[in-house]
Order: sequence, then structure tokens, then C-alpha cells
Amino acid sequence: MDRLTCYDCGETYAFGDAARCACGEPLWFETDTAGFDWPDASNPTEDAVSLGRDTLWRYESVLPATAPTGLAAAAGGTPLFRAPSIEPTDGPRVHLKVEGVNPTGSFKDRGTAVGIGRVDGPVGTVSHGNMALSVAAHAAAADRDAVILVAEDTPDARLAMIAQHDPHLFRVRGEYGRLYYDTLERDLGVAFLNSDSPLRVAGQKTVAYEICEAFAPEAPDAIVLPVSSGGQASGVWKALRELTAAGLLPSVPRIYLAQAARCDPVARAYRRGDSRVEPVAGEPTAAVSINNADPPSGNRALAAVSETDGGVVSVAEEAMLAETERLAADAGVSVEPSCAVATAAVRELAASGELDAADDVAVILTGSGYKYGGADADGSSVREADRRDVPDAVRDAVS
Ligand SMILES: *Cc1c(COP(=O)(O)O)cnc(C)c1O
Ligand SMILES: [Zn+2]
Repeated sequence: MDRLTCYDCGETYAFGDAARCACGEPLWFETDTAGFDWPDASNPTEDAVSLGRDTLWRYESVLPATAPTGLAAAAGGTPLFRAPSIEPTDGPRVHLKVEGVNPTGSFKDRGTAVGIGRVDGPVGTVSHGNMALSVAAHAAAADRDAVILVAEDTPDARLAMIAQHDPHLFRVRGEYGRLYYDTLERDLGVAFLNSDSPLRVAGQKTVAYEICEAFAPEAPDAIVLPVSSGGQASGVWKALRELTAAGLLPSVPRIYLAQAARCDPVARAYRRGDSRVEPVAGEPTAAVSINNADPPSGNRALAAVSETDGGVVSVAEEAMLAETERLAADAGVSVEPSCAVATAAVRELAASGELDAADDVAVILTGSGYKYGGADADGSSVREADRRDVPDAVRDAVS
């Protein structure tokens, strides 16, 4: 698995020869899945470390890396369960894919695990969020140097979370968005695993493999996920194409993407009926992990939506925050607001009739909320009680 191809113009390159296609679009690995079948559940991939559970290495035969040992061996294999308590009335059945269960609390571990498994030497990333944390932790586990480039305004608490894994951590002044391209175009002696790099997309496709395998021999009607760079959306689309080629999908799930209305370049292009995403100005939003005004795989994400007959939804800030609380209080799942846009989008799609009671929808909850203080970050719901008053207070609380 050494060739990269462009989904748009079809050009191919040897892995390592190009970071992006000459046409400007991102590349992904060419994968032949014609002979692929769901692995035997009781017999996980030979080289995989015995973990007592399946991980993404279950799909090693369609990945451009071999199963490693250590932290990377533990990525993927996350829970998927139906959550009736948050389903919209007369709406679809909602199944939550909880990516917060990954080693560093987000789906980014899938891409990092495959990336680190494939490249030698120092690794790096341009991120101040989950991807930075993931690369720093996986590099630590693999005894590699890690170079993490964060934006100037990254909060100290975030820096401390990343710094504990001891990477080379740089707070960068200047135009942060350009760094993505700077690190791809120059030979820096560091393999940069940025948001939509082919290795990352290869790892991240496994979330859709897991979802589809859970529904096999049926298929979910739709997969809903938040979108920022478009890397994960690309991975999900790639998985659906591969599984279709392998004859394992009776029907192709529709891909719906969710964005925060305050920074929604992909949704705007979708509403315009455009196949090209234009950069937006973007306002600050609580959805920090999906605040990308100029997504490098935005056009590919749009193609995923149009090819699968899905859609893109913009979610208002208040609806997103309310949904973050709902997921914690009603479904027991702590997520970042960046993930709650996805179930908020399901609510909107149910209201408009696009999703209905006949549909099974898998929602990718991309990252854990526990890292970020959760929905009640200020602790405003906490009550005080003296020890002697506890029995009465308890009875009152549940009466
Ligand atoms: C990175 C991230 C996203 C966005 O993924 P892209 O691949 O950049 O589109 C969504 N949610 C969370 C929690 C993330 O960390
Ligand atoms: Zn191209």
C-alpha cells in the first residue's frame, strides 16, 4: 500500500513524493479492498497484541501500517450503543460511537497510531487541541521526538495537558493557518501528521469500518459527524467506498456533517450548492476543536456529502451548548461542544423530515468532554450540605 491518489482528478503518486495533489486537493492511500471480508471475531489479526478486545488493528489488512505494540496498539475499538434517551420524538434511532474512549480521549488516536506505525523518526503536528495531545502521547510511548506547533492564544491549561508528554512544544506567533502548508512543503526532518494527511485519513477510516461492521449484514442509514479540516469526513467516506467495493454494504449510508454556525465554511458551500469551500471570517465559538475557517479537506468533505446524498448542517451556538448538556445529563456521555453539534444536527434533520423513524443513525462523538471540564464547568449545580442535614437533603433531592 504505497500509492496515494487524488479523489478529484485521479492523479497518483508514490507515498512520500507529494504532500498534496498538483491540482491542489488532498491525497489518500489507494487501497484494494476487493477481497476484503469482515475479520473473524474470535481471531483478531495475528500480529496484534492481545488486549482482550478488538482495536482498529482488526483491519490491519487494509491499513498502510502494521500492528504496533504499546499505546498505538490500543487505538480504536470504541463502544457503539443506542441512546433512546436522547432520540427526537418520532425521529431516527440514534447510535452513539464514543470516540472519547480512545487512549487520549479522541478519534485523533486512530490517525496518530497508523501514522506513527508507518513513519520513522520524529513526528509532528500543527494543532493546539486533541491532535497535539494525541501526537505528543503516542510519540512518548514510541520513544520518538515530537514537535507540536500550537497557536499563540492556546490557553495555559491546554498547554500543560500537552506538555506532560514532553514534546518539543512551540507557541507560534503569526499566521497559524499557513503553518499547515509550511510543514508539508518543507523538508524539516520531521514527519508532520497534520489533520488530513493520508496516514491520518487511513487510520480514521476505521471508525466507519467499526460502525458498518456493527450493523452488518445491514448498514446504518446515515452517519453524522462534526467537521473541521475534513480529515475525518474523508476517512469515513473512504471507508464507505472501500466497503462498497468489497461488497459488504447493502446500501451506502448518507454522510451528514455538522458545523458550528459561527464557523461553518463547509455548510455555507453546501447551501450555495457549490463544490468548492471558500474561507470564512469565522467568529469565536465554544466548538474549539472544529473552528477551522479554511479547511484543507473541505472540498473532499463536500464531495463525500454529495456522493452519498447526505447534507451539512450549521448548528447555532445555544443549540450546541444545550445539546452538550443533554448528552451529559440524559445520555451519560461527556463530550466537547465540538461533538454535540452532531447530535444537535440529528435533531434538526429529524425536525425537517430528512431523518425519520425508519432510520438508524450512527453519530460519531469525536472527543471526550472530561478533558475540558464538561457541560457544567463552573460547578453551578453543586449544592452545599452539612453532614447532619445529608439524610434530609438526599430525600428532598429525589422526591
Ligand atoms: C479534530 C476534531 C474534529 C474535527 O475533525 P477533522 O478531521 O479536522 O474534520 C471534531 N471533533 C473533535 C473532538 C476533534 O478533536
Ligand atoms: Zn488532483
